[in-house]
Amino acid sequence: MMVKTRFAPSPTGLIHFGNVRTALFNWLFAKHEQGNFLLRIEDTDAERSSDEYIHALMRDLEWLGLEWDEGEKHPKALGPYRQSHRTSLYETHLHRLEDTGQVYPCFCSVAELEISRKLQAQASKPPRYSGKCANLSVAEIERKKAEGRDYTLRFRMPRGSLLTFNDLVRGLQSYPSDDIGDFIIRRSDGTFAFFFVNAIDDALMEVTHVLRGEDHLTNTPRQIALLQAMGMPIPEYGHISLIVDSKGSPLSKRSGSMSMEALRNKGYFPLAINNYLARLGHHYVSDGFLDMQGLAEGFMLANLGRAPARYERSQLDHWQALALHETSDGKVWEWLRESVKDWVGEKDGAEFVSVIRHNILFPEDARVWARVLFADTLDITDDAVKVLNETDRDFFGIAVSLLEHNMDFLSYTQRIKNETGRSGKGLFMPLRAALTGNIHGPEMPGVFRLLGFDRVRGRLTRLA
Ligand code: GLU
Repeated sequence: MMVKTRFAPSPTGLIHFGNVRTALFNWLFAKHEQGNFLLRIEDTDAERSSDEYIHALMRDLEWLGLEWDEGEKHPKALGPYRQSHRTSLYETHLHRLEDTGQVYPCFCSVAELEISRKLQAQASKPPRYSGKCANLSVAEIERKKAEGRDYTLRFRMPRGSLLTFNDLVRGLQSYPSDDIGDFIIRRSDGTFAFFFVNAIDDALMEVTHVLRGEDHLTNTPRQIALLQAMGMPIPEYGHISLIVDSKGSPLSKRSGSMSMEALRNKGYFPLAINNYLARLGHHYVSDGFLDMQGLAEGFMLANLGRAPARYERSQLDHWQALALHETSDGKVWEWLRESVKDWVGEKDGAEFVSVIRHNILFPEDARVWARVLFADTLDITDDAVKVLNETDRDFFGIAVSLLEHNMDFLSYTQRIKNETGRSGKGLFMPLRAALTGNIHGPEMPGVFRLLGFDRVRGRLTRLA
């Protein structure tokens, strides 16, 4: 059977590392197996879902190269792909459960349920429904309904059985059905519970493998019980470990989680993010930079880890550096052009990129070098001031006098060396400090060429 995975986000906000990694793992596994990847929008929470977030998440997935084979924009016969457009399908399945007596109305109030939960907690018992409304007579049900009492619909969990499944990441899992109890599948306002619609959709959309966050692990036995009751196919489930911050707490905005939009605006390359996330909770044999095909080829369910995956910004930036390294000069220019447009013209673009590309991670870093190389004023760091103060004035006078229009740095420094006897650091540092205001930076021959005769002469003359 062809493998089909899916990403099923709830569009209630911008997507962050956690959701993106889930999408990526599902995409990679599908591609590894020459299968399909499906996108389903779980917008049942009408108040919190918005079209804006749906568009944002589709744009983010496209940007990351996580194109879906099925879903909005790529419809197949198994749609629609938004849960809000599938209500009649859910109703049909609900009726099936009702017809076979596997669902019953529950009239217990929120307050009643709360008291029952507290009593169970005091007795150290798992919180589950007491079963109070499980055996109401038809007449009683009719009477309560006629009184206009609110009611939910509960799924009648099979009694005394053990629900087991082989989790693709965590191995064999088993849950006594009696610990779970009868759970709500339709709320009193008529909306369906997540367990129900999510499971039905996976079955109807022929999803074969569900990789999702560990936070859904305890939902799975409920979903399996529902699918069994409806006689629907049950996918394989794999629950991937959560992403945590350096302190071991769930990754939050505070601890460094960024939306894809924020990462895109900052200038991260999609492949840097994919290379990093594909290794967060998953192990590759290769620690080299991989393209999407390489990432898919090396993706193995057996290499998914159970321990929480620790997010580190420095690791993400490591992949950013490698992604930049893999990018052609032309593409790098497109990537940073907008950030440096006040200083670097189109004709200097290619040379500017080749000079500074090893000294940047983001377009904003390129701005710093654009100013150094093309602005009339120069900021000088404290370290550079120190170097300049330690260099005698004669040096700069000589440096000005030996300047030639060809801007060939090697022959220029050779002439200075011959004249002053300085070499190595003693020769290069004062020149770097004088010309760039920094003690580190791009290779000097390129800097020298880009600065050009007039600017070099100006900066040296000031110090002479
Ligand atoms: N809409 C659910 C979520 O975003 C989907 C969970 C799942 O993948 O089954 O958490």
